[in-house]
Amino acid sequence: MPLLPIVGHEAERDRARRACADGRLPQVLLLTGPVGVGKQRFGLWVAQLLFCEAEGSRPCGACQPCQRVLDLTHPDLHWVMPVLSPKASDPEKQVEEVAGAIAAVIAERREQPLYQPADGMWGHFLATARVLQRRAALTPVAGARKVFLVAEANRLVPQEANQEAANALLKLLEEPPANSQFILTAVDPNRLLPTIRSRTVPLRLGRLPDTEVKGFLGAHLGLEGAALQERVAAAQGSIGRAISLGEESDKALRAAAELLRAVSAGAAARSERAMKQGPYAARGEFTAMLDAVAMLLAEGGRAASGAGGTPSVPEMPAGPRTPRAFVEALGRVAKAREAAQGNVNPQLLLATLADDLAEVL
Ligand SMILES: [Zn+2]
Repeated sequence: MPLLPIVGHEAERDRARRACADGRLPQVLLLTGPVGVGKQRFGLWVAQLLFCEAEGSRPCGACQPCQRVLDLTHPDLHWVMPVLSPKASDPEKQVEEVAGAIAAVIAERREQPLYQPADGMWGHFLATARVLQRRAALTPVAGARKVFLVAEANRLVPQEANQEAANALLKLLEEPPANSQFILTAVDPNRLLPTIRSRTVPLRLGRLPDTEVKGFLGAHLGLEGAALQERVAAAQGSIGRAISLGEESDKALRAAAELLRAVSAGAAARSERAMKQGPYAARGEFTAMLDAVAMLLAEGGRAASGAGGTPSVPEMPAGPRTPRAFVEALGRVAKAREAAQGNVNPQLLLATLADDLAEVL
């Protein structure tokens, strides 16, 4: 599946277009701006701009180089993102491992262009810098130049162990091969190593207007009506944030449905579900699940009182539940949610809540 269309940042695109036409595009560009506003997508657009073979307005999106960028198959486009730390001890094996991990992420993004931010533990390592160095030394395959897009460059952590990685990247950015264009992205330029930052020319991408976010979510996430409005408001001008929020709430809802099924499936299923919770759940994730349980119960309560909606909680076998039972159940969820704010084991809390719900429902 090709990349989804770039959204917004028209003024910045015009600037890049003009700079490119005049041959003034800085060779090491740093794209900054809030999470999820499309920095990497903008970087890929710049790659298209540089590779495009159309005569008129560029990038055309239709010529072969444009298509290959959009399909993430252009041989001179090198997109590098944070990956899991390599496990091998041999440096050569590490380079292979990192290159493989990057290729796997790109394969995933080809399948699913609406990707999530990189895992918080992932980063750029010495092996990543070596991958870049080696590819920078190669002759371009298809055209006159290569484009390197280094996502979340701030994840090159300035720790002692990584000093060598920083130096390797720095060397590359100090004297980039003439036929190469570097594009780095970072949310906060101040979190880049100052030596690296000083080699770059920044271009800031701001938050997108709600109309742009709305158009994108309507077209590519299939949202409409109130759900669309709600997500647009929560996105705060960031399409990436809107996508993550959707994933999180889907996850919470799935977990809530699973809990309610376990509640009606008997004591063994309840304790099994509680054990699955694990003692160290991320607090935000746990409370989101409780909120989703409350939402499902409130829906059930509305249906039971004849206010409309689905007949009961779809996750539980239909039973003669009174509106009162749902009110009771909601009270227990509220209690659990309050307890979840404190320093309490979520596994125990969930076991108690599941028993409470089984009792009242
Ligand atoms: Zn083109």
